[in-house]
Amino acid sequence: MVIFDKSVEGRRGVVLPGCDVQEPDAIPAGYCRKQPAELCELSELDVIRHFTALSRKNFGVDNGFYPLGSCTMKYNPKALEVIAGIDGFARLHPFLPQLRHGGMLVQGALRVVWELEKLLCEITGMTACTMQPLAGAHGELTGMMLVAAYHRKKGNRKKIVLIPDEAHGTNPSSAAIAGFETRPVPTCQSSGMLDIAALEKLLTDEVAAIMVTNPNTLGIFNSKIERVAEIAHRHDALVYYDGANLNAIMGRFRPGDAGIDVMHMNLHKTFATPHGGGGPGAGPVAVRENLEQFLPVSRVIKRSDNTYQLDYDRPDSIGYIAPFYGNFSVCLKAYAYILLLGGKGLKEASETAVLNANYLMHKLKDIYDLPYPKTCMHEFVLSAKKQMANDVHATDIAKALIDEGFHPMTVYFPLIVKEAMMIEPTETESKETLDRFIAAMRRIAETAQSDPDQLRAAPVTSPVCRPDEVKAARDMDFSA
Ligand SMILES: *Cc1c(COP(=O)(O)O)cnc(C)c1O
Repeated sequence: MVIFDKSVEGRRGVVLPGCDVQEPDAIPAGYCRKQPAELCELSELDVIRHFTALSRKNFGVDNGFYPLGSCTMKYNPKALEVIAGIDGFARLHPFLPQLRHGGMLVQGALRVVWELEKLLCEITGMTACTMQPLAGAHGELTGMMLVAAYHRKKGNRKKIVLIPDEAHGTNPSSAAIAGFETRPVPTCQSSGMLDIAALEKLLTDEVAAIMVTNPNTLGIFNSKIERVAEIAHRHDALVYYDGANLNAIMGRFRPGDAGIDVMHMNLHKTFATPHGGGGPGAGPVAVRENLEQFLPVSRVIKRSDNTYQLDYDRPDSIGYIAPFYGNFSVCLKAYAYILLLGGKGLKEASETAVLNANYLMHKLKDIYDLPYPKTCMHEFVLSAKKQMANDVHATDIAKALIDEGFHPMTVYFPLIVKEAMMIEPTETESKETLDRFIAAMRRIAETAQSDPDQLRAAPVTSPVCRPDEVKAARDMDFSA
C-alpha cells in the first residue's frame, strides 16, 4: 500500500510496513510546486466547532427514530465500522496484485467476497451472486442486462418487461435503460397483491421478464409468487425479484425456492451500512444457474490450492459494470453482520421487523385510513384521507413529525395510494420508542381536527421553517 507524502521537499512514496511493493517514481519536476500553496489557516478549535455545528443540524438514526418506509433506516452496530476500518481492508489498493508480490494482502479481501457470495446464495436460495452492483437500482439494471443477455443468446426477440403499478420507481427506469419497454400490472384492490388474471392477459411471447417486489411496497407478501413464476416461465419470460427489503423475509422465505431467476438485494437495507442521501450501498445480484454465465466480470474464484483469484475469462459475461470489487466496505460490513447474527439472529431480526411494523399499524389504524388492511411485513402504508376533511395532507403530517422530534415517514409513495404515508420501524427500535411515535401520530391526528392551521405551518420548532415549495420550484436560479 503506497501513500504519497505531499510535502514540497520529500515527494517520495512511503511504503507501509508489511508491504513489499516497490517505491513509485517521483512526481515529474514540471508538476511540482516551487512554493508551498497558500492555504487559509484555521485553528483546530474553529474547525471542530464548525463540523460539530454541522453535525447537529443533521438528523440521523443515531439521534432519533427514522421511520422512512422502503428505505429501511435501521441502527447499524458500531462494531462493524471497526471491522471495516481495519487497515488490512480499509487501506487496500485495488491495483495490488492478486497473488504475486503483495498478493497475500488481497487474499483476505477476495475471501470475504467469495464467502459473502456463498452466504447470500444460502440466504436467497439462488445459485450464484455478483457483488459488483453499487446500489439497489444498479443491481436492477444489472439484472435487466442479464435478462437481455439470456434472451439474446437464445435468439428470443422480446422487448417488454411487466412491472406491477406499486413498484419502486427504479424498476421501470432500470428496465428502460436496459432497452426494454415497460407495461404496468395492476394491483388487486382486495388483496393488495398483483392481479394474476391481469398478468395472464399481459403475458405474451414478447414479454422478456416480470419484475416483482415481494413483500411489495405496500408491505404485503405475495404468497402466490410461485404461481407468478410458473405462469411467466410458460412464455419463457424470466422473473426478476426486487429484494431490496430482504430484511422482511430472511430466514423465512427464499426467492430461489419459488422459481425466481434473478434478484438483487440491498445490503444497506437488509444487513448493515448506514446509508442515505444517495449512498453508500451495494446491490448484489443473485441468479439461478440459467443466468450464471452472463454475470458481470470480475468473479472471485477459489483455486485448487485454496487461494482466491479474480476471473475475467468469461465470454458470455455482460461485462464490466463497476470497478474492481464493487463497494467493498459495504460488502465487508454485510459479511460481518451475517456472521455476527448467524442464521438464528437473522431470522429473529426479520421477525422483529415484521412484529414492530404490525404493532404500529394496529395502534394507528383507527385514526388514519389503512387502504390495504392486511397483516403487513416490514412496512405498511396509511393514507391521510380522513385528515383531508380538514385540508390536512400527508405532507403536513410528515412536517409535524419533525416538531415531534421524529424524522418524517415516506410520503406520496407508492403512487397507487392517495396521500400515502409509508412507515417502516425496523427491528432495531424498542417498544418505548414505538409507543412515543404512536403517541405523536395520535396527537397530530387530534391537531388535524382541533387546529389544522398549526399542522399546515409545521415544522415550527426545527432550525428551519417550512419552505415555500412553489416559490422554491419557480424561482430556482441555477446560474447564481
Ligand atoms: C430502496 C429500494 C430500491 C433502490 O435501492 P437503491 O439502493 O436506493 O438504489 C429498489 N427497490 C425497492 C423496493 C427499494 O426499497
